[in-house]
Amino acid sequence: MKKLKFAATLIAIGLLSACGQKDETSAAAAPAESGPAAGAETASPAAESAAANPAAGIDTQRIANARSEPANWLTVGGGYADQRYSPLKKINADNVKDLGLAWHYKIDVDRGAEATPVVIDGTMYTTGAYSILYALNAVTGELLWKHDPEVPRNKAGYACCDVVNRGVAVYKGKVYLGTFDGRLVALDAADGSKVWEINTVDNPKRTYSITGAPIAINDMIIIGNGGAEFNARGYVSAFDAANGELKWRFYTVPGEPENDGAHKEAMDAARKTWDSTSYLTQGGGGTVWNSFSYDPELDLLYFGTGNGVSWNKLVRQEPDADNLYISSVLALKASTGEYAWHYQEVPGDNWDYDAAATMTLADLEIGGKQRKVLMHAPKNGFFYVLDRATGELLSAEKFMPVDWATHVDLETGRPVVDEKIADWTKEPKLINPGPFGSHNWQPMSFSPDTGLVYIPAQEAAGYYAPHAEPTFNDRAGLWNLGANFPLPEDPKVLRDAVKGVTSKLLAWDPVAQKEAWSVHRESIWHGGTFTTAGNLVFQGSSQGQFEAYSADKGEKLWSAPANTGVIAGASSYEVDGEQYVAIMAGWGGAFPLFTGNIANFAKVKPEARVLVFKLGGKAKLPEPKNEPNPLPELQKVEGTEAQIALGKQVYSDNCEFCHGINVVGGGLVPDLRYAKPQTHKEFAAIVAGARSDKGMPAYAGVFTAEEVEAIRQYVIQRSHDLKAELDKKEVASSKN
Ligand code: CA
Repeated sequence: MKKLKFAATLIAIGLLSACGQKDETSAAAAPAESGPAAGAETASPAAESAAANPAAGIDTQRIANARSEPANWLTVGGGYADQRYSPLKKINADNVKDLGLAWHYKIDVDRGAEATPVVIDGTMYTTGAYSILYALNAVTGELLWKHDPEVPRNKAGYACCDVVNRGVAVYKGKVYLGTFDGRLVALDAADGSKVWEINTVDNPKRTYSITGAPIAINDMIIIGNGGAEFNARGYVSAFDAANGELKWRFYTVPGEPENDGAHKEAMDAARKTWDSTSYLTQGGGGTVWNSFSYDPELDLLYFGTGNGVSWNKLVRQEPDADNLYISSVLALKASTGEYAWHYQEVPGDNWDYDAAATMTLADLEIGGKQRKVLMHAPKNGFFYVLDRATGELLSAEKFMPVDWATHVDLETGRPVVDEKIADWTKEPKLINPGPFGSHNWQPMSFSPDTGLVYIPAQEAAGYYAPHAEPTFNDRAGLWNLGANFPLPEDPKVLRDAVKGVTSKLLAWDPVAQKEAWSVHRESIWHGGTFTTAGNLVFQGSSQGQFEAYSADKGEKLWSAPANTGVIAGASSYEVDGEQYVAIMAGWGGAFPLFTGNIANFAKVKPEARVLVFKLGGKAKLPEPKNEPNPLPELQKVEGTEAQIALGKQVYSDNCEFCHGINVVGGGLVPDLRYAKPQTHKEFAAIVAGARSDKGMPAYAGVFTAEEVEAIRQYVIQRSHDLKAELDKKEVASSKN
């Protein structure tokens, strides 16, 4: 039975989730631990003069030439090509062993930290959970100003995968921030005062969020949103950088034809690829929730789209259709938002294979010809090289073990799906990859020196099962997947699921389409990668380390503790001749929320900080958080078998995305098995909204009183299961 539980988690490896924050001890007000380590230098002249407005001169021209000013890190991806490569090399493979912590800054909320710090003339702009923005002195870590957009905490359930933010855009003196609840905010880069704020959400009846970083192009700020696990209709919008006025909007799935506007041709083409009009009610999905890149010569904006709503193509009423433009790479004319080309990676996506990973642009010699390419390693496990002017598919190969499709047919550009393995709509199937993907949002990087792409690659099959009631439940703020994630009954299926939960730091040759080298990593959900001219690749791990490897060979050269899981990508900058490497540390996101700590995947606790390193840095982190967590007095098991079964079903449809599969919490939100007697007394009130200020969404009117009590009875049952496990361990250890 124990094995079953272990495997269950592994299996579950799939979902992306989101939710409320820790209710009792949490995060709300962060202690001002901060910054300057003992002996830190005083602010440099550069940093001081920056106080005027460090970002005043940042425009499209400078971002396009970001490589020519390596002291700054102008966008989250280090420039429009999103290569995440720094030409700095004072820190290099020979001396990286001397890299030490220069300073650290504790941010307010201990949830996932996914931003890449942007640094301009000695000022760092970065973000943490609930879209809180920090401007810091990049030399000392001193807080210059902070903007808390006061995202209502009860919105925590409005996104699949934690209350995260992936960073800012900086342009002509302003910093631009997308907030978790869908606003776009423009702030003065010098003092953080608000210049304007608009709501990007076009339809309040749908569930939208923003977790991605905006991109600034030619006096426009461009941003998408998330929500395809709920009922969102994906789109991307361009706003006037000066005043927030909407310049253009492109929907990624069709709506009512009379509203097609300037995009009639692209929408008509998409409409033909839907069997039904489910997109009108369900929303369609295809959200633009992550990464942008841009080619200034072609004036093409690139982004990827997420899965359809629902995940289950039968619930979407789309048994055989491609459903454009879900799970696709799209190119638009940035100046007008006009459709240029698309490449759909997963026609009729049935697996949550979002195409939203880093869009990496480079010029490569392929078959004797210099090609302008876009490289993409999405969740579906294939590495794609596209001609970025035309969208032509140049090559596609598996970069990790993948069984949902045998290969991509280069003639048709379509994956050849192995339906025997991959169709789970009638019976449960174990499919590789699962919804966590072969590579998720964690950014990959490209080094023009080695010609290699560094992928935070992972392997985690998913056990998909059709939902018992295969209908679309259009409940605002609640998941609409048409899928369940039960335990497989066949022990062989369980074993297969367990076998392959692993990761690689993978150096990939995009021309030869093969592995150059790789480093094995335990478990999954490791950090994004970042590479430098110092022949280095940096990556944080889900086991709590920040590490450097040689970019050409993959030799491990350096490691430092981060106290918590690192999932973000790093950046580098220089002030007064000193090079720094910056990373956000903060465990969170879909994996810890959904899979909890089952199988001891998460050995780290959520703590969130900015960490900055330099050669000879001597700062030290405090001891990692590790409070004991004794089981409180347990409630009596009083629920009937039927009641507990009902509770289990309602829980797994609605609660497990945040509180963990089988009620095993991952430390980001309360582990309900440890609920105190008082919490049980208030259980119904809490579900209805009594802790909505702490991040527990208000579900008043969503569940019946019987359902809420059934969930509680199931939770009580699980707390007794936990006690039995702990007692068994104690007996075992006393025998040793
Ligand atoms: Ca998704």
